[in-house]
Amino acid sequence: MENISLSALQHYAFCPRQCALIHNEQAWAENFLTAQGRALHERVDSGEPETRKGVRFERSVHVAAEKLGLSGILDMVEHDIQTGRLKPVEYKRGKPKPEPFDEIQLCAQAMCLEEMTGQSVSEGALWYMQTRHRVPVAFSDGLRVQTLDVIRKVRELLDSGITPPPEYGKRCKACSLVEICQPQLLERDRSKGYVAGLFGYSILFWGN
Ligand code: SF4
Repeated sequence: MENISLSALQHYAFCPRQCALIHNEQAWAENFLTAQGRALHERVDSGEPETRKGVRFERSVHVAAEKLGLSGILDMVEHDIQTGRLKPVEYKRGKPKPEPFDEIQLCAQAMCLEEMTGQSVSEGALWYMQTRHRVPVAFSDGLRVQTLDVIRKVRELLDSGITPPPEYGKRCKACSLVEICQPQLLERDRSKGYVAGLFGYSILFWGN
């Protein structure tokens, strides 16, 4: 079983079509938001490991968890030298969201660390650039169940090799793949096909 990239979970949460375009069709484009996010991660990644007040801060930590079928790079892992406790920390460009997408991504990171080290990882943190705020995240049983469910859905999507059709929505305005995806155009074509199917003939006859 080939490992899924941790970033696929984030892309799936944003839009399953975006996930399939990036991870199955290798489509990629950068916009202002992705450039800002990349710059933030480069800044975090460029720091050397350091130790402060008994905590070692490891940056750009590579993980590969075969049982979970996930791999990727973690922004930071805090290692409490006295207790040995590990805490993943993920840096985000925006602000906290109503949906638990960021928490799910962080929980998947924690589960990778657990599989690799054999020790339990009970909490982590999300740091948001826009609000300059650190939000602690507890990896509850409920969050773990949600995370496993998203991992399963991403695997099903990528294994199917099928890219879902677009669903134009508010998120498309922030999507770097909007030019490649063409959601409005494809949706219009789909509804044309649907109407043609209803009436049993091609509406191409009608022109645009
Ligand atoms: S443009 Fe919209 S439908 Fe297309 S991949 Fe992006 S978010 Fe999804």
